[in-house]
Amino acid sequence: MVLETSRRVDDSAISELLRADSLGKRLVHFKVGTVVLKAMVDELIEMGFEWFLPVMLSRTTDPLWPDPGASIEKRIELEIYGERVRTMQSMIVHKRVLVSLGPEKFFILSPNIRIEKRERAYTGWHLYEFTQLEVEMAYAKMHDVFRVYERIMSAAIRKVKEEMGEELEALGRRLRELRPPFEVVSRRELVRRYGEDWERRLPYEIEEPVWVTDIPREFYDYQDFETGEWRNYDLFLPEGYGEVISGAEREYEYEKMLAKIKRDGLRVEDFEVLLRLAKEGKLKPSAGAGLGIERFIAYIVGAKHVGEVQPFPRIPGHVGEL
Ligand code: ASP
Ligand code: MG
Repeated sequence: MVLETSRRVDDSAISELLRADSLGKRLVHFKVGTVVLKAMVDELIEMGFEWFLPVMLSRTTDPLWPDPGASIEKRIELEIYGERVRTMQSMIVHKRVLVSLGPEKFFILSPNIRIEKRERAYTGWHLYEFTQLEVEMAYAKMHDVFRVYERIMSAAIRKVKEEMGEELEALGRRLRELRPPFEVVSRRELVRRYGEDWERRLPYEIEEPVWVTDIPREFYDYQDFETGEWRNYDLFLPEGYGEVISGAEREYEYEKMLAKIKRDGLRVEDFEVLLRLAKEGKLKPSAGAGLGIERFIAYIVGAKHVGEVQPFPRIPGHVGEL
């Protein structure tokens, strides 16, 4: 749910990134990316997670609505076999169904297409195609998810420091080890501290990553109807970077979910499977999240634009040669 995080870049930096015939120092970014992905996947498998491969076309996907940070210019729908399908904005619906049917602890490297508004090219923090490291765990609570991501992110940074010291130095990147557990702060507290603009300011105010909780957004995140509090969270990175993870404890009760889907003005038929399972009492409570892989790698290498870690950068507003 990032607003304008400002690692701002200009048009000449963007054109340079879009040249399909030169990778320059980005070759190093890709090597770091390999270490990061391996470290995170190894940790997850060691913790007993099952690994699933993604779907990319489906009748339904994450509505990305309502989300105060969403800025989607276009939603992609197409027809296959006489049916309308959408490209994945996130696999949240699929994760909720899968976790309820059997596998109780899994991860997916899931490509997402989000056609961000073109002015977001300049934030340095948005892409129109990216990949999430999605995790979902049956019966888990917020803190269980915090511990999982703290562990895999720390392992990744430790490995990069161990194995890629020279490369980091060549990039001029002074990377510090992470020191979990990270601080947890509610959005309400941040509004008190920094005002409504907290999301833009926070990444410049913190020294370590911070979990932000209680963010009003999509129906699938759990909301306590008595207090109004949302049991969801984003992880913010320091040094001006910003949001790198979004996740939540999930809604699982039929009436409540239906009321929220209607409240948000969404189409009930898009969430039929979720609602059917919930009605039959088969939708398990769970918690999970997704980490923006390109963003995490961009932070590690100290990139100015997150597109620098993609061989073919997907920068909002720009369709490159390849
Ligand atoms: N991946 C997120 C989740 O698990 C949803 C999102 O993509 O924002 O909640
Ligand atoms: Mg979301």
